[in-house]
Amino acid sequence: MTFPDRAAIETMDAQDPLGHLRDAFLLSPDEVYLDGNSLGVPTRAAQDELMRAARDEWAGQLIRSWNSAGWFDLPVELGDRIGGLIGAAAGQVVVADTTSINVYKALHAAMRLRPGRKAIIAESNSFPTDLYIAEGVVSTLPGARLRLGGVDGATIEEMLDGDVAAVLVNHVDYRTGALRDMAALTARIHAAGAVAVWDLCHSAGALPVGLDAAGADFAVGCTYKYLNGGPGSPAFIYVAQRHQGQVSQPLSGWWGHARPFAFETGYEGDTGIRRFQCGTQPILSMRALKGALQIWDGVDLHQLRAKSIALTDLFIRLVEGRCAGLGLTLETPREGARRGSQVALHHDHAWPVMQALIARGVIGDFRAPSTLRFGFTPLYLRYADVLRAVDVLEDILRSESWRDPRFAVKAAVT
Ligand SMILES: *Cc1c(COP(=O)(O)O)cnc(C)c1O
Repeated sequence: MTFPDRAAIETMDAQDPLGHLRDAFLLSPDEVYLDGNSLGVPTRAAQDELMRAARDEWAGQLIRSWNSAGWFDLPVELGDRIGGLIGAAAGQVVVADTTSINVYKALHAAMRLRPGRKAIIAESNSFPTDLYIAEGVVSTLPGARLRLGGVDGATIEEMLDGDVAAVLVNHVDYRTGALRDMAALTARIHAAGAVAVWDLCHSAGALPVGLDAAGADFAVGCTYKYLNGGPGSPAFIYVAQRHQGQVSQPLSGWWGHARPFAFETGYEGDTGIRRFQCGTQPILSMRALKGALQIWDGVDLHQLRAKSIALTDLFIRLVEGRCAGLGLTLETPREGARRGSQVALHHDHAWPVMQALIARGVIGDFRAPSTLRFGFTPLYLRYADVLRAVDVLEDILRSESWRDPRFAVKAAVT
């Protein structure tokens, strides 16, 4: 097998139309960061905005900043900005709460759009919080039940019947990186009379997403992964225009009221996307997110996607060429068009192997039971980083340095 040599890889970096963006990020020169799919890297702009918000707005203007610094409207302002990255026209996305909470709101809203139907379908290998939240939703709705693709039926497509109200589906699988065809699956869901709720946690900021074009009903996603908003930065929720004004969500807090500052006794929901807010938002986190989103001005998402596929292709080729026979198997679809921006490799000793990689400055993560997961963020990674990661991985596997007992120690967060 042939694969690019160092000189060819340096040429790829020199010709990379996104290569200049790396300087906007605060990256350690000694590390290869392949975990931007779990916690993105800060930009200088994000940190500057955070400091400015703390100093000039919080300390400087105090409560006046709700108006003077635009704090109150930040959730919809940033929602529209994210909307531009996920194919949603203005007025359909709001930044609020967490992905878990937004799954709850979206699934409840979806169930209320199909009152005669009782089932939610989700994928058994979904990111667990989505399933836990779906369990919580059905527990509040008499007669409702959760059916899992891979457990109660072979595939989501096969399970669609007249009892299904809502389908919760991941655009990119968090473990394997497999990418769903959003338009095709949404059409199938609609043909069965159900409502589509998409989780974009591993696709927003990783590849072009066309929510409006696909006819999606609801979507949720987080901003601390490929959108680089910072640890725990608030999530977003999309509600298609055609549903607004007719849908309700159960967390009927004052920020979703039609007139929050009228302080009325009864709840009357806003008729727009603001209804999907609940209460006061983490403004400092939102201000960091506002700074983080600046990097996207002028980024061509098709160039982003092309680089993402090129980075992951290169990684797969190098790993398979150089680490053959060293116990790795590819868990991610080999065809670029069928995966997101990550590569998952199976290894029987994935935990200590990943700890050994991290100790050598190659930061990926471990996903139980035995997956080495590597995220490739096109905004700041170089092809040379891919080469370095494979150099280190090959060395760790050949030398078996991962057998050092210190790499067996478990940590709370993986
Ligand atoms: C990261 C991720 C989440 C995270 O949810 P939080 O509420 O932010 O903890 C949820 N769903 C998926 C698919 C994820 O990848």
